[in-house]
Amino acid sequence: MLLNRQEDLHIHCNYNDHSDADLTSSNIIQKAEQKKLERIAITEHVRKSSVWTRKYVNELSSQASRSKIRILIGFEAKILQNGEIDCPEEYLCGDYFVIASFHTRYTKEQWYTALIKAIENPFVNVIGHLAPEAGFVLSDSEIEKIGEYLIENKKIIELNAKYVRPPIQFLNIFKRQGVKFHLGSDAHSLKEIGNFDRINHLINLIEK
Ligand SMILES: [Zn+2]
Ligand SMILES: [Zn+2]
Repeated sequence: MLLNRQEDLHIHCNYNDHSDADLTSSNIIQKAEQKKLERIAITEHVRKSSVWTRKYVNELSSQASRSKIRILIGFEAKILQNGEIDCPEEYLCGDYFVIASFHTRYTKEQWYTALIKAIENPFVNVIGHLAPEAGFVLSDSEIEKIGEYLIENKKIIELNAKYVRPPIQFLNIFKRQGVKFHLGSDAHSLKEIGNFDRINHLINLIEK
């Protein structure tokens, strides 16, 4: 399977409190144009309680209508312990590009159950930077089970350049099963946009 290096489907912006201040939507798009990217997804960290979402969506919509690059308007939302996605309901509708990721440490059992529920969520597009927590490992058959759910629910696994994930054990199994992949820099600064140097080895593994 060939991966499109001219796509970066995981980019943050200055709506969160820990990205660079110059990571504005217009600077992101300008950088993506300079790098000759074809398609990007701006996927800011969201919570159910986020109050900036309407402004963000309006701003990105107007930028997208003026850009030559295809721009997906999205969110990265935390997978909660009960498997729900920490995103306001109104954006879980199919119109937005939703990455579901673990940002909280769970036990293996909590993690596995929450992950399967997130995969089954029809409004989740991608599972972000998937990897087990430091405290546990997964057997090949447990990973195969995850792969079956991914395929059945048409979910994509991103190769994440910030965290260099998923682990090779996961990728080998998912690749064999025919899971779909794409690339995400998880950029929190302009220079990280479209930069996948850190995951060349993972890209090669999928493409070989
Ligand atoms: Zn994340
Ligand atoms: Zn992220």
